[in-house]
Amino acid sequence: MKYISTRGEAEKLDFEGVTLTGLARDGGLYVPESLPKFSVDKIRRFRGKPYADVAFEVIQPFVAGCVSDADLKAMLDATYGTAFRHPAVAPLVQMDANDWLLELFHGPTLAFKDFALQLLGRFFDHFTAKRGEKLTILGATSGDTGSAAIEGCRGRDNVMIYMLHPKGRVSDVQRRQMTTVLEDNVVNIAVEGNFDDCQALVKACFNDLDFRDRVGLTAVNSINWARVMAQVVYYFTSAAALGAPDREISYTVPTGNFGDIFAGYIAKGMGLPIRQLVVATNKNDILARTLKTGSYRADGVFATLSPSMDIQVSSNFERLIFDLAGRDAAEVRSYMETLSVEKGFDLKADHLEKLRASFAASQADDDVTRAMMKRVYEASGYVADPHTAVGIASAEACNTDKSVPMVTLSTAHPAKFGGAVKEATGVDPDLPAHMADLLSREERLITLPNDVAALQARIMQGM
Ligand SMILES: *Cc1c(COP(=O)(O)O)cnc(C)c1O
Repeated sequence: MKYISTRGEAEKLDFEGVTLTGLARDGGLYVPESLPKFSVDKIRRFRGKPYADVAFEVIQPFVAGCVSDADLKAMLDATYGTAFRHPAVAPLVQMDANDWLLELFHGPTLAFKDFALQLLGRFFDHFTAKRGEKLTILGATSGDTGSAAIEGCRGRDNVMIYMLHPKGRVSDVQRRQMTTVLEDNVVNIAVEGNFDDCQALVKACFNDLDFRDRVGLTAVNSINWARVMAQVVYYFTSAAALGAPDREISYTVPTGNFGDIFAGYIAKGMGLPIRQLVVATNKNDILARTLKTGSYRADGVFATLSPSMDIQVSSNFERLIFDLAGRDAAEVRSYMETLSVEKGFDLKADHLEKLRASFAASQADDDVTRAMMKRVYEASGYVADPHTAVGIASAEACNTDKSVPMVTLSTAHPAKFGGAVKEATGVDPDLPAHMADLLSREERLITLPNDVAALQARIMQGM
């Protein structure tokens, strides 16, 4: 399998190359040259199989030639056999006659990002060992990505991970999920600045190509193809459990950077009969506005009860635009050029039509989110986190055919956002047992000024 850039001007790479590169050198995102297609017989055989076995079938065509079947099997068994606390890994919970939640928060950091980052850490290990090279991961986080990336990389031999967060501006639980990881290859950095400053520091390091090559810099944000790939699996396991391929299934996905729902679109492209893909957004509703008006326009970032969806533009949307434009990289370059100059662009009519054929969208603000958490709790006793509540509200708003099962992705454990949950439901959700003592564990972190030179010097020190 070869991968091409959405902007058409970077070299084609194999799976190993895209995993270690992240963002393409032409500024684009890597996508598979073509998708594997699964027969109905193959999908039918997924029913009742362990999660790791379906993961092998789904992922194997994407990594073939770079990872042997035996190595892939061992990595998947280790990832989904031991790192997740529920035997089904991604269990379905029935909420109503034909409404379901897909719980994706049973991994080590309690959000769906563990599905991809637990596996990505193992791919990093595998490829660096093979090449005899070292890798430096650099990221900035305002929430869930940082802890999931650190958990995925902790203790790995050839990987150093540096994670920046804005000093004093992440919640205690979120900070401690990162800073209580004490392995020597993990460096938590509190930056004297805000989240945008952290992101700007990361970007400056990546744009310094000399520095980038010297330390082997790699990204773990959701533009890394391996992350999207890992997330395709749970669409197949959940759909098969509910009767696919012999019936259609719909999905609603709490969305920020468009990575998780794009994985659903890939599953559909591989032959999974998905009826609706509903984009659920909070007040940061650029995607819902785009579906309505065809105009993709940045609009500032609002802080909400569902902070992991507080984004200005959705980086993975570029992958979809590439398809909407008939995989014409020149069209993508022209859209992205307009975006960077004018902070927005208007989709061409035929591209908008294609977007609407595959996706619906709905927005839920904080009032709706709170009301939904309360309603779900009072109706069923189920405690949903705020991101999931945005999803449930959007599923309800967009579900056009009640005879088709609607699966809403439950992206975080309620205890991760305990304050908002308690305010809405009166219930103070407990952290799971493996994290019960989180607030009393030893922390390790350093503080740096908002300064690229200081950051680069600290990273060089770890080489
Ligand atoms: C990251 C995240 C999202 C958004 O996922 P994207 O792939 O960025 O669209 C939603 N909910 C939670 C809890 C998250 O951590």
